[in-house]
Amino acid sequence: MLLRLRKTLTRAELEAVLGLARELGYTTRFLDGGKELLALDGVGAPDHRARFEDLAGVAGILDAGDAHELFERRAGRPDTIVRVGDAAFGGGKVALVAGPCAVEDVESALEIALAVRERGATCMRGGAFKPRTSPYSFQGARERGLEILARVKLETGLAIVTEVLDPRDVGAVGEVADMFQIGSRNMQNSALLIEVGKAKKPVLLKRGFAATLREFLLAAEYVLAQGNDQVVLCERGIRGFDPSTRNVLDVGAVAHLKRVTHLPVVVDPSHASGRAELVRPLARAGLAAGADGLIVEVHPHPEVTHSDGEQAIGYDAFGLVAADARAIAALDGREVVAPRPLGAKR
Ligand code: PEP
Ligand code: MN
Repeated sequence: MLLRLRKTLTRAELEAVLGLARELGYTTRFLDGGKELLALDGVGAPDHRARFEDLAGVAGILDAGDAHELFERRAGRPDTIVRVGDAAFGGGKVALVAGPCAVEDVESALEIALAVRERGATCMRGGAFKPRTSPYSFQGARERGLEILARVKLETGLAIVTEVLDPRDVGAVGEVADMFQIGSRNMQNSALLIEVGKAKKPVLLKRGFAATLREFLLAAEYVLAQGNDQVVLCERGIRGFDPSTRNVLDVGAVAHLKRVTHLPVVVDPSHASGRAELVRPLARAGLAAGADGLIVEVHPHPEVTHSDGEQAIGYDAFGLVAADARAIAALDGREVVAPRPLGAKR
């Protein structure tokens, strides 16, 4: 590892850097005669970089060497493929997740699940616990919502992706969820990240709407550090200045993330745009930038839903998004994984 020390370093700050290096088993040598460039020789570990970064005397890490974080794409490390039921994300596999913003009742949830499955979705999304901006908005069907999702799983064989808001609910939500969704508002909730990490189940981690990509990756690192490498990153739009769209889909982030991490990346064109008519073009853009999947809000009667009706697309529109996904994936030799025939055993 190579550190750049502060020009104004005090004696005590230097001692702290050298002391930590000793404690972690590194030998040290200055490359510039004892001024700023300090090389550390030894065996790195994922936590070392952050421990040096936290010291007042360290201005920056010029080369992390093998003290690399777990999310990093390293030479020779294959893409992580996250498998959830019939779905697979990454390593050339593209998966489609679709469903309502929130589950409301058994009949509509089942109808939507079967409709999106028929058009190529392998996972059903649907919130039981909803993180709403206003405390007076519909907060989700909660425990009843989990029961509805369990029924959907049983009858359709779709894998269930649903949000967990509270570390205390990880057990109950995990009884039903095949993949935990961590929402944008909770991306930096470290207690929640640690708890889903311990649950050793796939996690769909949504980017905070004002999070840098390094913050996003370090949020994923919390889950990975628990020994759970089944993390899918979700770009869902960041906050911009223009009210024409709900958020701004950061397509560059998708391309960048695919370069720096082995983790799969998906795009949520629904929350990125906030407008049903923009979902298809943004889905196309995300896949063209390298996304390993999509998560899309679908509802046959958006006018009566309790949340995010203005961005929900209908069944036929989802069919078009799925067809686009197959075509775009095929352009670079990738494949959209299809749901197995209804009733077939896994
Ligand atoms: C959602 O998926 O319905 C949701 C609340 O998303 P986000 O956390 O990205 O706002
Ligand atoms: Mn929503």
